[in-house]
Amino acid sequence: MNVKKYLTVLVAAAIVLPAASCAFREKTVKRSDFALNTLINITVTGKSADSAADAALAEIKRIDALMNTHSSKSALYALNCASAGERVRVSAEIFKLIKTSAQISEKTGGAFDITLKPVADLWAIGTENPRVPQSGEILGALEKTGYENMILNEEDCTVEFKKDGMQIDLGGIAKGYAANRAAEILKNAGIKSALLDLGGNVYAVGQRSDGQRWRVGLQTPWKTRGEYFKTVSVSDTSVVTSGAYERYFEDNSEIYHHILNPENGYPSKSGIQSATVICTDSALADALSTAVFVSGSEGARRIAENFDNVKIILYTDDGEILEY
Ligand code: ADP
Ligand code: MG
Repeated sequence: MNVKKYLTVLVAAAIVLPAASCAFREKTVKRSDFALNTLINITVTGKSADSAADAALAEIKRIDALMNTHSSKSALYALNCASAGERVRVSAEIFKLIKTSAQISEKTGGAFDITLKPVADLWAIGTENPRVPQSGEILGALEKTGYENMILNEEDCTVEFKKDGMQIDLGGIAKGYAANRAAEILKNAGIKSALLDLGGNVYAVGQRSDGQRWRVGLQTPWKTRGEYFKTVSVSDTSVVTSGAYERYFEDNSEIYHHILNPENGYPSKSGIQSATVICTDSALADALSTAVFVSGSEGARRIAENFDNVKIILYTDDGEILEY
C-alpha cells in the first residue's frame, strides 16, 4: 500500500469507527417540548436513546392532538356537540379512556369526573380570562354534568349523553395516559433508564444511569419551584401530584384553583394543598391525584383502600404530611 492509499484508509477509519461505535454506546439524551397544556421533559439513557426519545415525544404529541377539545377534527369535539340521546362513535382508544375514567369516578364516589367541562369552561382557569362565575351560572352548568349521565356502548364504541349540553374533558387523565404510552414505547425500544416528566406527572422507567432508583421531589405548595417537602425513590412507577398552586387566579385576594369539586362546581376546599399518588399506572395516578385532592384526607384513606398498590401522600392546609 502506498503512503497516499494508507493515509486514505486511515482517515476513512477515523471517520467510520467513531460513528459505528456511537451507535453501540449508551448515551443520555434530553427532549423538552410543550404539549398537553404543559411543559414536557424527557431524559432517556440507552443505545437507542435518540430514536426512542423522539418516538416517545411523538406519541405524547399524538395524544395531545387526540385530546384536543377545540379542534373540530377531534373525536371529542363531535361528541361534545351531541344532543341528549345521540349516539356518537369515538375511536376504541378514546372509548377505553372514557370507560376507565367512568370506572374511576365510580370508585372515588364521583370525585373524579370528566363531565365537568361545562363548569370548568365557566371558570376558564388556565386561560387569559379566568373569572368567578355567578352562582346561578354554576348551578346551571352543574345540571349538565355527572358521569352517571353518560351511556357507554362497548359494542360499537359509542357514547351517549343523557342531557343536552353535556361535554367531556379528558385533561385530568390525559397526561398520565400519555406517560403510560411513552414509557411503553421506551421499554419496547430496550430503554432501561428514563425519566418522563409531563408537567409534574412523572414516570420513572427502570433506574438512573448510575444504577440508583430515581428520586422524585414533591414540591412544597406555594414555595419556590424545586423546594421539596419530601423526596421519594422509585423505579418503574409513576408519581403524580395535583396541587392548588399549579394553576389558579386571584380575585379579591381569594385564590381560585383549577381542581373542581363536582358536587358544587367550585374549586375544591378539602383541607389539602397537594395530593400525590404513586402507582405503576400513570393514568390511574393522574386521575386519582385529582380525586384525592377533592376528597381530602378522609376520602384519601378510602381511596387508598379501594385501589391496590396505590400510595398517597398529602400536604395539608396546615403543612402536615399524611401518608396512606
Ligand atoms: P393537576 O396536574 O394539578 O392534577 P390536571 O391538569 O391533571 O391538574 O387536571 C386538570 C384538568 O382536570 C382540567 O382539564 C380540569 O378541567 C379537569 N378537572 C378539574 N377538576 C376535575 C375533577 N374533579 N375531575 C376530573 N377532572 C377535573
Ligand atoms: Mg391530574
